[in-house]
Amino acid sequence: MKKRNSLLVIMVPVLLAIAYFAGKSQMPLEKEHFRMGTVINQLAYGRHAKKAMNEVAKRIYEIESLMTINAPGGEINILNDAAGKEAVRLSPETFKLLEKSINFSELSRGAFDVTIGPLVREWGIHTENPRILEENSISKLLPLVNYRDIHLFKEQLSAKLEKSGQVVDLGGIAKGYAGDEAIRIYKSHGISSAYINIGGNVVVLGNKPNGEPWRIAITNPRMMGQERYIGAVDVKDNAVVTSGDYERYFEKDGIRYHHIIDPKTGEPADSGLISVTIIAKSSTDADALSTAAFVLGLDKGKQLIEIMANVEAIFVTKDKEIYTTDGLKNNFIFNTDAEGFKYIN
Ligand code: FAD
Ligand code: MG
Repeated sequence: MKKRNSLLVIMVPVLLAIAYFAGKSQMPLEKEHFRMGTVINQLAYGRHAKKAMNEVAKRIYEIESLMTINAPGGEINILNDAAGKEAVRLSPETFKLLEKSINFSELSRGAFDVTIGPLVREWGIHTENPRILEENSISKLLPLVNYRDIHLFKEQLSAKLEKSGQVVDLGGIAKGYAGDEAIRIYKSHGISSAYINIGGNVVVLGNKPNGEPWRIAITNPRMMGQERYIGAVDVKDNAVVTSGDYERYFEKDGIRYHHIIDPKTGEPADSGLISVTIIAKSSTDADALSTAAFVLGLDKGKQLIEIMANVEAIFVTKDKEIYTTDGLKNNFIFNTDAEGFKYIN
């Protein structure tokens, strides 16, 4: 079984991306650290950039501690341990993110399902020992996946999972939330130009100091040939969030098993897409939507995105065809050197 070094995969594009868009008039400060199982790169301009970036790093650590299921402690672990037994009091932010997750589960008709945890654990794609699940193990776990089994008690700020064994997993949305928090912190320090990349979730504040938008490269999901990017978008005050089958996966007998699970089948989503990038004001929304659209596939995914105001998307299919929503037609810069890829405009 082959497991890709996700750290390298994420870092290389980040370093190149910095070269791509570093402003001319003012040098940015940079910070790189590791949290939430991924590399986090920040770039900020202004007098308080260093302080702000340190505060962001601290804040991401706090969010991880509250919301992780990959390490002991934290509210989500407590909620999961009490599944089928009792309601658990949550901090306002965890409660809100859980509520938001349920909204996205409804909106995507269950393609995004924050109770996917039992299957994510059993597949173990993010671990050193991933396994291919037999049909009978999947059918035992599938009844535990149902966001409708999360009961929220707004007045008490508490939540309860209906059945024992149910597991909330915020892996598809919490990095997005961390990105929105980073932007809030940059602003609170008077910063008007900054960039953060949390393992493929990019969020930018303002334009670059020279007044130009940030040019964010979209990773080539197959990385074959020389070209690391299939294209780029120019953005200001936006999140650019990608979900793909190329960051966390293993292969066996020529089949790729990746980390985005279709809640209907219990298997890695096989919707014909290999990556989806969402561009939206809210990084939290973009994160949930990228996971949802990846599961839904091109047609249903595009329908979902097109009903949302100010949200755009780039879809890449297994056949290496690239589709964008209408609002991106004049902004997606296709890399014509990306081997085998075709932009269907
Ligand atoms: P996304 O598409 O945004 O999300 C995919 C992730 O969402 C999956 O990994 C799974 O967790 C979940 N998911 C899968 N299918 C669905 C679905 N249908 N609906 C909803 N959610 C789904 N990784 C580590 O290796 N070690 C760690 O210690 C670690 N700690 C973390 C702590 C936190 C708080 C968070 C948010 C993430 C952490 N991660 C860790 C990373 C995590 O395991 C995921 O790999 C990562 O969040 C996936 O993000 P993505 O952008 O690649 O994909
Ligand atoms: Mg996501």
